[in-house]
Amino acid sequence: MRRSTEAEIIEQYADDESNTFFAQGVEAVVFPESADDVAQVLREAGDAGTPVTVSGGGTGLTGARVATCGGVIMTMELMAHESGHEGFEPVTVEHQGLRYTVMLDRDRLLAWCPPAITLDALDALLAPDLLFPPAPTEQSAMLGGAVAENASGARSFMHGATRRWIEALEVVLPTGELLRLRRGQVVADGRTLRFASEAGIEHEVTAPSYQMPQTKNAAGLFAADGMDLVDLFVGSEGILGVITAVLIRVTPRPTLFSDTAFFATEEAAVAHADALRQAAAEGVPIVSIEYYDSGALRFMSEQPQVKPEHQAAIFTELAADDFDAVEVVAEIIERSEPLDDWFADSNRELEAQRTFRHALPESVNTWLRQHGTDKLCTDYAVPAEAFGRMMDAYRASSEAFLEVTARPEASAVLFGHMGDHHLHVDFLPADDSEQTAAMAEYIHLARTAIGLGGTITAEHGVGKKTLPIESRDVPYLELMYGPEGLDEIAQVKRALDPAWLLNPGNMVPAP
Ligand SMILES: Cc1cc2nc3c(=O)[nH]c(=O)nc-3n(C[C@H](O)[C@H](O)[C@H](O)COP(=O)(O)OP(=O)(O)OC[C@H]3O[C@@H](n4cnc5c(N)ncnc54)[C@H](O)[C@@H]3O)c2cc1C
Repeated sequence: MRRSTEAEIIEQYADDESNTFFAQGVEAVVFPESADDVAQVLREAGDAGTPVTVSGGGTGLTGARVATCGGVIMTMELMAHESGHEGFEPVTVEHQGLRYTVMLDRDRLLAWCPPAITLDALDALLAPDLLFPPAPTEQSAMLGGAVAENASGARSFMHGATRRWIEALEVVLPTGELLRLRRGQVVADGRTLRFASEAGIEHEVTAPSYQMPQTKNAAGLFAADGMDLVDLFVGSEGILGVITAVLIRVTPRPTLFSDTAFFATEEAAVAHADALRQAAAEGVPIVSIEYYDSGALRFMSEQPQVKPEHQAAIFTELAADDFDAVEVVAEIIERSEPLDDWFADSNRELEAQRTFRHALPESVNTWLRQHGTDKLCTDYAVPAEAFGRMMDAYRASSEAFLEVTARPEASAVLFGHMGDHHLHVDFLPADDSEQTAAMAEYIHLARTAIGLGGTITAEHGVGKKTLPIESRDVPYLELMYGPEGLDEIAQVKRALDPAWLLNPGNMVPAP
C-alpha cells in the first residue's frame, strides 16, 4: 500500500471547499486499495493511538475531511474498482483520465460501486439508459463521500437524498472489523441496534433519542425508532466507519424537460412554486423546483434571458416520457402569468438552462475572488407550514445586511431548493465588519429555522463547523439537539471507536 510523508502530497489533502479548516501535524497520507488495506491502516493506527481522517473528493463544505487533529490521512481515491458479486456484470468507465469498475445488474437495477467513483463518472457509466437519481450539485464528489454526507440536491424534491438509494454497505469499523450490511437485516429494537461483524464480534449501540426535524435534513446521526443499521452509517460523516463498497439502486433514465419562469414579484414566483408542488403531490413527475430572488438575478444579469424587471425566477425540471405531464406544467406556467418564460425541450436548450443555472455560483465566486473574501451560506430547511415565516426572516435578514453593506448589486442572494422549503442565503461580506454583521444574521436565521421545527443543515452536514455565540465556539449540532444530543452521538461513537481515532472533530468536538 502506498504511503507518502512528502509535504507536497500532504498539502493536497489539507483542506476542502470550506476554505476554513486546515490540516495540522499530519504524518502521512495512505492510499488503500482494498477493504483489507483499510482494516490494516485502522488496526495500525489503533495500536499507535494515531488519528485517521478519511478523504473523499474533498468537495465538502464543512471541513469534514480535514485532519485538524493530525495523524494519518486515508485517501480513498485508489478504491475505484469493485469485483465479485454473483449475478452482477463488471462495467468499466474511463472518466477524466481515471478508470472505474462497477458491478451492475441491469435487470434488478442494482449496482455495487467502489467508494472512489465520482458522481460524474457514475453518471457517465450509467448513461444513456440508467440513472443514479440523487444529484448533489458538485458531481466531482465521490460516492463514498456522498454516502457519508447523505448528500442531496435540487432533484431531491422528487428522488430524496442519497440515503433513499442505498441498499447495502460494506464498512470497516474503527477497530478494523469488517461489516456487511443489507437493508432489512438489522433493524433497531426501539433505537438499539445489535449486530455482529464478519469476525463474529458482537456490538450493541443505541441511536440518539432526539427527534429529527421533519424536513430534508443532514444534521447528526440518523435516529428513529425501528431504524435500519444501514441508516446509522449513511450520513455519519465518517465517524463510525470507513465505507469500502456501496450497493446502490438505479432507475431507467427519463426524458427531461426544464423551464425557467421569470416574475415581476417574489410573491408571484412563490405562488408558481406552490402550484408546481401541488401538481407533484398529484403525481406530475416534477423533479426539481428551484428559486432565484432579485439579488440572485442581479448576479446573472449578463445572461440574455434576464431583464431588469425580473424580480424572481423559478426553474423546474420534469421527467416526462408522456406529453400529458408536459401539458399540465405548461398550463400551470400559463396560469402563473410570468413576465417571461423559457421552456427547454431539446438537448441544446436543456444544456443552455444548465449553463444558466451555473452562472449564479460562478458569478458569486468571481465577486468573492475579486474582493478576497468568503461568503457565508445558510443550509436551513423548515417544514412546509413554516416556510412563509422563514421567507419573511430571510427577507428581513437580507435587508438588515443591505443596510450595513449599502451595496444593492452584491449584498445577499437567496436561491435554491424551494420545492423542499430549503433555500440558501449567500451573505457576501467585503470586510471584517461586514463579516461580523453577516454572522449575526446567519445565527439569527439558524435560531429561527430551529424555532420553526427545521434544520440548520439540510444537505451539507456539519463536519467541524461551530458558531461564535457569546464568546464560545458552539458546535452546530448543540444548537439543534442541545448538549444532551451531542452526548448521545458521542456515546454511539465511543461504542464503535473507543479510542476516538476515526475522523475526530466531526459532528462532536474531539475529546
Ligand atoms: C460547488 C459545490 C456545491 C455543492 N453542492 C452540494 C449540494 O447541492 N448538496 C450536497 O449535499 N452537497 C453539496 N456540496 C458539498 C459536497 O459536494 C458533498 O458534501 C459531498 O458529499 C462530499 O463528497 P466528497 O467525496 O467530496 O467528500 P469529502 O469532502 O472528501 O469528505 C466529506 C466527508 O465524507 C467522509 N468520507 C469520504 N469518503 C468516505 C468513505 N469512503 N467512508 C467514510 N467516510 C468518507 C470524509 O471523511 C468527510 O467526513 C457542494 C460542494 C461544492 C464545492
